[in-house]
Order: sequence, then C-alpha cells, then structure tokens
Amino acid sequence: MNRRGALRRPCVAVAVALFFGCLALSADDPAAPPESAVAAEEQKAPAPQLFSGQVVYLKDALARRDIETSAETAEHVVLETDAGEIIPILADWRGRAFYQDEQLRNRKVDLIGFRHPGVPYLNVIAVYTFNEAGERTYTDYWCDVCSIPMYEIQPCECCQGAIRLRFQIQDLPEYVK
Ligand SMILES: [Zn+2]
Repeated sequence: MNRRGALRRPCVAVAVALFFGCLALSADDPAAPPESAVAAEEQKAPAPQLFSGQVVYLKDALARRDIETSAETAEHVVLETDAGEIIPILADWRGRAFYQDEQLRNRKVDLIGFRHPGVPYLNVIAVYTFNEAGERTYTDYWCDVCSIPMYEIQPCECCQGAIRLRFQIQDLPEYVK
C-alpha cells in the first residue's frame, strides 16, 4: 500500500493501519520506516548507515568555507557531518521535515539513511536529536488525538488537526552500531 493509496482510503482504515503499524514498529524496530517507504526502496536501496552532524542551510555551510553562492542555493538543506563533509538532504517523506522545520536544523543529529550509488543526496529514514541533558531522542511528529506518527509538518492524516514534534529518549538501533 503506497502513501497515496493510503490517503484515498477512509480515515478509519488509515488510522487503524497506522496504529497497528506504529505498535509493530515500537515493539520491534522504532527506527524502521513506514511499510510504504520500505516497499519502494527495498529492491534497490543500499544498506542504511549512521550519519552524524548538524543539518544546516547549504548557504551557511558554504559561507563558513568562504565559498560564494547565489540565491538559487539558499533553500538547500545539508548535513554538515562531524568530519566536515557536506551531504545534501533529499526532501522526500522523511528528509522534507528538515526543509520545513527550523527546530530540526542547527542542532546535533544522528541520521540513519543511505545514498544511492552516484547520487550525493542522503535518503533519511530515521531522525535522532539530543535534548538539553544530551540524551538521544528519536524524533518524529505525533497527533495527540489520533495517536499516530507522521514524518513531516502537515495536518494530521486522520483528523486534519495540528500535529507536534515528538521526542522519545532512545538508543540507536543495533544495525547501525
Ligand atoms: Zn489526528
């Protein structure tokens, strides 16, 4: 079931599917992407890896290196890794939030993701931020009414109400340690 297909189904069906999907993910692997994303990527995606650093605007990362750029690059968002590498973030189902939400930028992050061979963009599949105590928190969006997770700023897929950024203290999954 792809994302668009899900949105065309009745609200209740979506809520039930997402609810049980969420339970399954929480019990097993909380950092796993939704089934729709897995289905689209599983045939061709390289193994996910850990990328650590800060997500910033490309213009700021370039300015720190005294590299001039024009307005066209102003909205590009990149991961500036701890080693100083600049990796552009793909604005897909998971990476788009970094373009939308300033709360996710200019802070320490651990990202699980992958890059297709020959493509510089990082496909993000899980986002971890750190709270004031330095604890790692799995970060997504949440509707308190419907109790379903989402991954970008949007009206709730079920009730159309407001959603909020959610932080859950959590260690990295074993497969990237
Ligand atoms: Zn809702």
